[in-house]
Amino acid sequence: DIHSNRHFQEPEREFENALRPLTFASFNGQEKIVENLNIFVRAARLRGESLDHVLLHGPPGLGKTTLSNIIANELGVGFRVTSGPVLDKPGDLAGILTSLEANDVLFIDEIHRLAPVVEEYLYSAMEDYRIDILIDKGPSARSIQIDLNPFTLIGATTRSGLLTSPLRARFGINMHLEYYDMETLTGIVLRSAGILKIGCDRRAAEEIASRSRGTPRVANALLRRVRDFAQIKGTGKIDHAIASYALEALNIDVHGLDEIDNKILLTIIDKFNGGPVGITTIATAVGDDAGTIEEVYEPFLIKEGFIKRTPRGREATDLAYRHLGRKRQEEQGL
Ligand code: ATP
Repeated sequence: DIHSNRHFQEPEREFENALRPLTFASFNGQEKIVENLNIFVRAARLRGESLDHVLLHGPPGLGKTTLSNIIANELGVGFRVTSGPVLDKPGDLAGILTSLEANDVLFIDEIHRLAPVVEEYLYSAMEDYRIDILIDKGPSARSIQIDLNPFTLIGATTRSGLLTSPLRARFGINMHLEYYDMETLTGIVLRSAGILKIGCDRRAAEEIASRSRGTPRVANALLRRVRDFAQIKGTGKIDHAIASYALEALNIDVHGLDEIDNKILLTIIDKFNGGPVGITTIATAVGDDAGTIEEVYEPFLIKEGFIKRTPRGREATDLAYRHLGRKRQEEQGL
């Protein structure tokens, strides 16, 4: 499933890496964030200090890893990558922290999934660049303090609501990534096609962008699939006709909605007569948790006008009804 954002196979990962912008200048979109980060990075460089810790939150595939990599590049420092679920023992974290060089960037993906013992360990590391390591057990147990090089922690999360407040408070810079607009995504598709030396005209790029759920990762993955069709069924070049043909053949939703998006809309329409209905009720019916629906799915559905938020709950809009080929009860004459 092309829309499942994670768990890519190896070639897909290489493909992603090849398309990763390496400088602020080559990163499309998220203008406000990029502009501010650029200032903070330049100021830190000027003073020869580490950059403040940065928290990046927002739905998957919008460029959190990419931006973090760019920050390290632009700071001219090393970049270490790990993730919350991987760091399950304090010792793992201590090993990484003590190996960092001055002002390096440590990127922790899915930081909301850190084990509490590991998270507590991070507090003093972030605040004082110092960790306490416990040696021995029982009566002879004692802790020694280790000084660390100053470093920048960049935490990424799709679920900022799950972050504990002591952890959140330790990030000096806190930024939210938004879904991309069509114009920006079209630019990303054209840029990727250029890097891959695939001929792709603007209308085709727009068609791919419009079905990418506001997400660069999805846009790049669709470009890859459409390229296959262009090479086998077409001339090798991607024009609007071959792009539409491929996207139809791949069964990609015209609005770029994925299976869960559609399930959410169908639930509101079929089970709750269009709403209003509360988020926890929707979550139970869809079989996902309310936080994920609220932080990952709903923002896109609201932005694209499929759902309305009202004081009494979520409502499906006329656009949602039309998209799913449903009629409101009034229109059915019931
Ligand atoms: P996750 O948190 O799920 O790993 P992410 O937000 O870290 O997702 P990235 O891995 O940074 O997302 O980006 C996914 C893909 O999208 C990469 O191949 C990257 O090249 C591309 N991409 C992301 N943002 C941009 C952008 N602004 N311009 C061009 N390409 C982008």
